[in-house]
Amino acid sequence: MLKVEDAIERLLAQVRPLGAERVSLADALGRVPVDAPLMAAHDVPPFANSAMDGYAVLSREADAERRVIGESRAGGPVPPAVEPGTAVRIMTGAPMPADADAVIPIEDASESDERVRFAAVPAPGAHVRAAGHDVASGTDVRLLRQPITSSTIGLLAALGIAELEVHRRPRVAILSTGDELQPVGASLEPGHIHDANGPALAAAVTETGGQPVLLETAADDAAIIEERIGDGVGRADLLLVSGGVSVGARDHVRDVIELLGTLDFWRIAVQPGKPLAFGRVGERPVVGLPGNPVSALVTFELFVRPMLRRMLDLNGDGRPRVRARVDETIGTDSGRRTFARVRVEADGDEYRASSAGGQQSSQLLPLASANGLLVVPEGVSDTVPGTFYETILLGAVE
Ligand code: AMP
Ligand code: MG
Repeated sequence: MLKVEDAIERLLAQVRPLGAERVSLADALGRVPVDAPLMAAHDVPPFANSAMDGYAVLSREADAERRVIGESRAGGPVPPAVEPGTAVRIMTGAPMPADADAVIPIEDASESDERVRFAAVPAPGAHVRAAGHDVASGTDVRLLRQPITSSTIGLLAALGIAELEVHRRPRVAILSTGDELQPVGASLEPGHIHDANGPALAAAVTETGGQPVLLETAADDAAIIEERIGDGVGRADLLLVSGGVSVGARDHVRDVIELLGTLDFWRIAVQPGKPLAFGRVGERPVVGLPGNPVSALVTFELFVRPMLRRMLDLNGDGRPRVRARVDETIGTDSGRRTFARVRVEADGDEYRASSAGGQQSSQLLPLASANGLLVVPEGVSDTVPGTFYETILLGAVE
């Protein structure tokens, strides 16, 4: 059986960052900029301005009283220049009048009859934001290997950058296989179940920054699976198939991948999971995930998420990890690395994890209520109460 990290390494070797496309700033949230310069074409702020509401003055003057000769508003007309003995009323963000080099806050001033008195003489530059004090013109603000956030959008907007080049989103075709599957919304005849993997994997793809293409469910029929896989690889950068990858009489996925392209079949020392089919049809990588929903989602998390991130030029799985203490015995298979579904809580400056429920790979409710995967190494059967284990955080910890 392959070790988890060896399987990840082999899968990552099969994919590369995708090409670029231009998007508008409004569509850039969550996208990953390509490795290209992003030059500031002007200073931010573009002009020296006031950090406070107050009075713009010449700092070298010692007089405590000046004549108010006008005002400077943000977005207002050009204010008069400040000369000795004068001051200009100024608002936050308004341009500094010519020659003025300091602002006295309104709190330290009292004005009447167009004259203003100050409690103290300001230092040069006091409460003045110099042009370019945030970003100087010509600075390369390229932000690599991190998806664009609301603050990145704010920065780019301040720079007047309306469009940028980002990595194309990986298109991922998703195929659920099984005679028993019915789409959500259909009524269930005896022996039928709803297709949980299709919608769940589509959501996981979206969450990872990809674009899912959900294919129509295939029965356990080689000809139908062949047609769907052919369709899927034509429409996507990667095809995910779930179910039908094991060795049962009705498991056709491996044979079909082999018929259409090439196949590697691995047993990975992982719980939940184990069987994973990897192949290529034409140029397209195809990953066959186990059918049990928890196995499908956990193997997506461990193996497919890093592949999609690599296609976006992002490293690793992007999940925070903590060490969490377990105070119970969670049963695990000592031959495989176990990713137990847990609830993680902060307890003072420690983290504690408790089983989110049944740990069988057919039990989706515990995964849905888990916010972490507790990693129990190979060679260990069952968690030991009071022990800390590495834990992958899937959601917020309270
Ligand atoms: P398989 O990998 O096809 O042997 O399926 C293993 C288990 O997962 C069986 O109990 C299937 O009914 C179940 N299963 C397979 N595909 C899905 C799916 N798309 N949604 C929900 N359960 C599934
Ligand atoms: Mg099946």
